[in-house]
Amino acid sequence: MTITPLMPVYPRCGVRPVRGEGAYLYGERGEAYLDMAAGIAVNILGHSHPAVVKAIADQAATLMHISNLYGMPLGEKFAEALLAKTFADTLFFTNSGTEAVECAIKTARRYHYADGHPERHRIITFSNAFHGRTMGAISATDQPKMRDGFEPLVPGFTVLPFNDLEAAKAAIGPDAAGFMLETVQGEGGILAATPEFLKGLRQLCDEHGLLLILDEVQCGYGRTGAFFAYEHYGIEPDIMAVAKGIGAGFPLGACLATEKAARGMVIGTHGSTYGGNPLAMAVGQAVLDIVGTDEFLANVRAVGDRMRGALEQLIPNHDHLFQEVRGIGLMLGIKLKPGAEARAFVGHLRDNHGLLTVAGGDNVVRILPPLNINDSHIAECVEKLSAGARSFPVPEAA
Ligand code: PLP
Repeated sequence: MTITPLMPVYPRCGVRPVRGEGAYLYGERGEAYLDMAAGIAVNILGHSHPAVVKAIADQAATLMHISNLYGMPLGEKFAEALLAKTFADTLFFTNSGTEAVECAIKTARRYHYADGHPERHRIITFSNAFHGRTMGAISATDQPKMRDGFEPLVPGFTVLPFNDLEAAKAAIGPDAAGFMLETVQGEGGILAATPEFLKGLRQLCDEHGLLLILDEVQCGYGRTGAFFAYEHYGIEPDIMAVAKGIGAGFPLGACLATEKAARGMVIGTHGSTYGGNPLAMAVGQAVLDIVGTDEFLANVRAVGDRMRGALEQLIPNHDHLFQEVRGIGLMLGIKLKPGAEARAFVGHLRDNHGLLTVAGGDNVVRILPPLNINDSHIAECVEKLSAGARSFPVPEAA
């Protein structure tokens, strides 16, 4: 037998972390890494944050799991606190981002069904997006590497060019249920929806009775310096998928909706054994208590601006390798010049400079640190990026 015990679907690297503290991970041999990837935008409070550790330990010793057949005092309290900070009136707790997206798709379809229009089932989505790995989520993308071999896919999705409002308008028909997009694309390479595009989609939804579904699994929960990225645009969605930062490392997600959009989600239409169990709720509440404050978000904006400024200063010194800096808040990316490969540079930074970043689409190196980093982490990150750029061999562009 040659297959690995963990199904070999990931290209696992040599970093084998066994401990984490703040913005640092420590490997099996005790080696330290500055973690500017944060488990791909998950560990928003860094590793082993005392409030998160305490919430888990206390709740595990009190009540870990019951069933959604019972009342959930902790879940109700956390849901109310979270909803109060958003456009939404109700939510469903999940264990992951892709489950939150799946719930969002189901909520949208079910809305039209409850409205007497079951034929309005088609969700219009956009190229270069990533919505997760369930059959629904892969059917919502056009990326062969995620879809090949899993056909037949779920019908009822149309994928259009991102940020192309005219194409979105032209795609509306009698079977359309709504639009689904990442407010800021993460895996695709830190690409934000333009204000014209997102505001235009909102307007089209209002004009045509469609639902606007935002996937803020990666860009939400303080990552961009607003609690949710849609706040930067002055619009509100009808449905939104959230995960990653909401649990700060504990598996937790949520599908949020307005009362109107959730009208079809009645008893028996959806469920989850684990979703929103007391352990998850205790962690969610502890994280929200910290992240959901104006001070915390103002600090993300300030630190994000300083990080961005420092990254931009790197560009002229390494213009053989770095093309541009993208992003907002602490959702940042450096696009590399043609000829340099982001995945290879990420490996070089990791193996030779103890810096963890994450590759994204469009040849971008993503910087997605914990949201509570400070100026010394910025300085260390920039110093490692600079040293990495100096020692990284860039082949001549073809
Ligand atoms: N949506 C977006 C925007 C994501 O970035 C991700 C994960 O990277 C997902 C959905 C899927 O989340 P999960 O891996 O928790 O299922």
